[in-house]
Amino acid sequence: MSEPLRAPRAILRTAELGKGLEVEDAASLLAAFREPEARREVQRVANQVRARWAERTVEFIIPVYLTSFCQNECLYCGYRQSNPIAERVRLGWADFDQQLDLILAWGHRQIELVLSDDPEFGPETVARYVAATRRKLDTVGGGVVALCSPVYQQADYVRLREAGLDWVVEWQETYHQPHFDRWHFTGSPKRHFESRLDLWDRVLAAGLAKIGMGVLLGLYDFHYDVLAVVEHGNYLRRHYGIEPHALGIPRLKPARGVLASQKPNRFSVSDDDFRLVVSVYHLAFPTSRLFFNTRENYDLNISLVAAGDLFTVDCETLPGAYLRRHLPGQFSTHDYPPRREVKAALEQQGLTVRHLADERPCEAAVATPAPPAVIDEKRWIEQRQQLRARLREWETALERLSPNGCPAPEREATQAGLRASLECLKVSLIAHCRQEESELFPALPQSAELQLKLATFRAEHERFGVDLDKFERQMVSYGLSQDPTVLLALGARMIREVQGHLEAEERLCFEAPKPRS
Ligand code: SF4
Repeated sequence: MSEPLRAPRAILRTAELGKGLEVEDAASLLAAFREPEARREVQRVANQVRARWAERTVEFIIPVYLTSFCQNECLYCGYRQSNPIAERVRLGWADFDQQLDLILAWGHRQIELVLSDDPEFGPETVARYVAATRRKLDTVGGGVVALCSPVYQQADYVRLREAGLDWVVEWQETYHQPHFDRWHFTGSPKRHFESRLDLWDRVLAAGLAKIGMGVLLGLYDFHYDVLAVVEHGNYLRRHYGIEPHALGIPRLKPARGVLASQKPNRFSVSDDDFRLVVSVYHLAFPTSRLFFNTRENYDLNISLVAAGDLFTVDCETLPGAYLRRHLPGQFSTHDYPPRREVKAALEQQGLTVRHLADERPCEAAVATPAPPAVIDEKRWIEQRQQLRARLREWETALERLSPNGCPAPEREATQAGLRASLECLKVSLIAHCRQEESELFPALPQSAELQLKLATFRAEHERFGVDLDKFERQMVSYGLSQDPTVLLALGARMIREVQGHLEAEERLCFEAPKPRS
């Protein structure tokens, strides 16, 4: 990776022929083009290649989440099983219907059904949702159904194809198996690396010829993962004579209650590296659709999208959230301009937008939030008292941890007490934070200043989720080492933070002008 194997300019000239890149050439481009100016040149050539070989279109696509319950522990994901602050929703048929009516009325004609690994949502159930989506699309003149789900067996994909599925989206997450194992906890069904790796052979054998592959950038060295994608795509070319239908370019982004996603790590992909990855994919697969998504901000995406790509404009990642709007979901997303504005911006670049029909009125309007209720001050005071009582119980349980160790029976009783009081605190704290978000904040007189304060509150909610999780994990270490130093320090910090949070909430309620009843 340190030296190009072939002269980079010669590689670009070969790529201009639209035949893609061998993995060695992709490696050479990643190694050679490190300076921003040189990278701009790769992007320029990549755009030329796309303009010449791909259709002059950009396809819109909108995700529809079906469930957020998950049996997996992917450490980067807001829906991992143990995340205490994840919203858990299964989309019922009534909401599914209403939501689909709404997004079809917006004009969307390419629907990506997305679901976590919910044991109550097997492939047969998913096939029924695929069939229902297909029927709805048929009533408006047709469209495309994609699916991002847990990986299934060949027979399941046959059933899904028969139900009306057009293409399958699946990320390998990372191709580096030791890191794949680290990110996916023992016991997670998703930990089966090979079952993802040979997924495309099963999907193609099932008669679904359109596949959307990729990695989650930021789980391992992006050079390695991008080259693995290029090689996997070239394998599909060699063995099946197909180009990937789509290539995912998701980057690891913050998710509520997910420690690993909050801060940059040594594999984080900078904007500049991200641009290079997009260019290399554009050159390696000149007719595949790069899947631009709202994990990235609009300006970055619109500066990189090229002929033949996929673009997401409207994106909610919680089941049913299009009907309720702006509820926290699987990961953080950016707000985009209205879809018509984005369409106009793409058309200005000479690109035609597909899968976006004219907008029409729809009865399934977005639910308007209930009018602010009067703040029941007495109730909030009681809630704070209860939470403070839980904090004190937990503090007492923490104080029983002996720095010098203690006899085994006593030790077990102390740990059991700490666990029990932590569980009580966790349930109360999460319920309290949820009520703040759903009842208290909307009831306060809205202003720009309030929004700033609420942003701090919401950041604290996320931190509590992460800290509770961290504390539980540290208890395992304590069970082995009997050294309570980390637990005591973490516990003391959490107590201070929760107390500060409650005091700030008290001030917020007190300072707010009293709504008239
Ligand atoms: S990435 Fe998918 S499988 Fe993993 S925890 Fe999230 S929703 Fe579940």
